[in-house]
Formats: sequence, structure tokens, C-alpha cells
Amino acid sequence: MIVGAESLRPLGTRHSFSLVGDSAGALLSTEHLNQIVEIGEATVTVEAGIRYGELSGALHDRDLAVANLASLPHISVGGAIATGTHGSGVGNQSLAAAVSAIDVVGADGSIRLLRRGDHDFDGAVVGLGALGLVTRVSLDVVAEFELRQYVFEELPWSAVETHLDAILAASYSISLFTTWTDLGVAQVWLKTKDQLDSQSSFFGATAARQPVSSTVSASFFIDVSPRVPRQKLTAEIVSGDGSLQRITLLCRIDTLDELEYYRNGGILHYVLRKLAA
Ligand SMILES: Cc1cc2nc3c(=O)[nH]c(=O)nc-3n(C[C@H](O)[C@H](O)[C@H](O)COP(=O)(O)OP(=O)(O)OC[C@H]3O[C@@H](n4cnc5c(N)ncnc54)[C@H](O)[C@@H]3O)c2cc1C
Repeated sequence: MIVGAESLRPLGTRHSFSLVGDSAGALLSTEHLNQIVEIGEATVTVEAGIRYGELSGALHDRDLAVANLASLPHISVGGAIATGTHGSGVGNQSLAAAVSAIDVVGADGSIRLLRRGDHDFDGAVVGLGALGLVTRVSLDVVAEFELRQYVFEELPWSAVETHLDAILAASYSISLFTTWTDLGVAQVWLKTKDQLDSQSSFFGATAARQPVSSTVSASFFIDVSPRVPRQKLTAEIVSGDGSLQRITLLCRIDTLDELEYYRNGGILHYVLRKLAA
């Protein structure tokens, strides 16, 4: 199939924000390439289409875990490593850093096993789907660990300005959610292996008074195909109870140049295409 196609792009779960997974040629889904091949003490070998949520469940049964995850559990291992997907936390590396070996099917149909330490291995792992189809991936695993999440509210902008490095390094993972108002950062989600005094403050932010849910029970449908800068787009929001709301959004692609970058899937693709032309 690969040799027969004029051009072919592998697909993971298609969650990339950009058009990196798009192609005028053939698209090859890895949806059913989703088995765990082998779980060892320090390494797991999987087929590339497996989702981190599925993998984490199987590792959990063996008291193991991957060291880091992105925000979505349903992205594929192949797609995440190909794009350098990362989680949060200054002490955590990108998900690609856990890769110790990959099997790649090249355009000529041959399968190459690449291992950590091989020449240009890191570049081959974060290959954006341009080097071929990754069929198998070996990942480092660690002993299973638990995280507690603490939520703080209204972190003042002055604290963010003065202590940004310390704030971002304060725990295993930190997320700052802002509504861009003068009140500061609306919420700080701090994930840590330690137990904190839940009443404590965090750089001037106070412990959240209400439990916070990270589950959004609404679906958003937006036709994001702007033809002109600053185009009005319609978003349809279907709530958990089935009710439909339509709102108008202003697309913040403000100039024709930005529109061109967007159509190319990002400024990197635009520049690379210009260089290749
Ligand atoms: C709500 C949301 C939250 C997100 N959170 C984060 C986050 O926390 N951190 C972060 O860094 N990113 C995040 N992302 C971006 C997303 O994690 C990445 O874009 C990731 O690549 C998606 O994986 P995928 O399986 O959907 O890959 P796809 O989007 O399907 O593909 C991405 C690229 O990988 C290539 N590819 C896929 N599978 C293979 C394979 N088997 N062999 C070779 N190439 C392959 C494709 O050709 C394509 O170029 C988020 C996206 C969404 C929608």
C-alpha cells in the first residue's frame, strides 16, 4: 500500500491543531494499529496507533506508568511523539523523550528499526509523519505514581510578572487559566506528588472554595475555514442536555499574511514550502 501510493501521510487520532496531518495524497489511519506488544520492567513496546489512555490503563495493571502525559488521554502514541507533544511542568520532558526505539516503514516499503543513540534518532522520532509510517514504539516506563491536584484562585498579575519561573517550577505540573481580566490568573491547577496544606496560599492566590471539575459536557462545532481576515464565524454549542446555542465569533486571523500562514498549516510549513519552491 505504501509503495503503491504516490504520497502518503500517516494519521493518528487527528487531534493536531494545525494541518500537519493534512495531505492532498493518501491518508493512512493507524486507528487499528493499537495493540500492546510487550510490557517489560522498564520498557513497553506498543503499536503506534494506541492511545495514551488505553496504554496507561494497561500499565496501571502492572503498577507502571509513563513519566508524563499531555492534556488529552485519547491521542495516539505515534501522533504525540511525531509532533513533540508535551505536558506541563518544567521538570518533565516531551513525550518523545521516552522513546527508546521505533520501527519505521519508509516510502520504499522497507522497515527500519531505529534505536536511541542512532544517528539523528531524535529527529526521526519527532518526524511530523514525513519520514514514513511508525508502526511500533518502545517507551521507557516508570513505577506508577499518584498526583494530587490543588486549585488556587486569583493569582495576581504582579506575582506572575515577578515570580513566573518559580511559579512554573513549583510542582510536577502547573496550569494557569486566565480570563485576561485585571483580577489576574483566574485559576492555578497545581499537580504534585506531595500533600499540601489545602488552606495554604500560592504566591498570593487563595485555595479554591468550590470543587473544580475539569470535565466539559458540551460539544463545540465551528466551521474554521476563513476566507478573509477578521471573518465572522458561527459556533454551535451543544450542551450535555442536548440544547443548542449559536454564537458569533471573530476569527483573529487579522491580516492576509496570517491567512496565508494558516492555509499552510502554520508559519513553519509556510517557510519550508517557500524554501523548497
Ligand atoms: C484539546 C487538545 C489538547 C491538546 N493538548 C496538548 C498538550 O497538552 N500538549 C501538546 O503538546 N499538544 C497538545 N495537543 C496537540 C496534540 O496532542 C498533538 O497535535 C498530537 O500530535 C495529537 O496526536 P494524534 O494522534 O491526534 O496525531 P495526528 O494529529 O493524527 O497526527 C499528527 C502528526 O503525526 C503524524 N503521525 C501520526 N501517527 C503517525 C505514525 N504512526 N507514524 C508516523 N507519523 C505519524 C501525522 O502524519 C501528523 O503529521 C492537544 C490537542 C487538542 C485538540
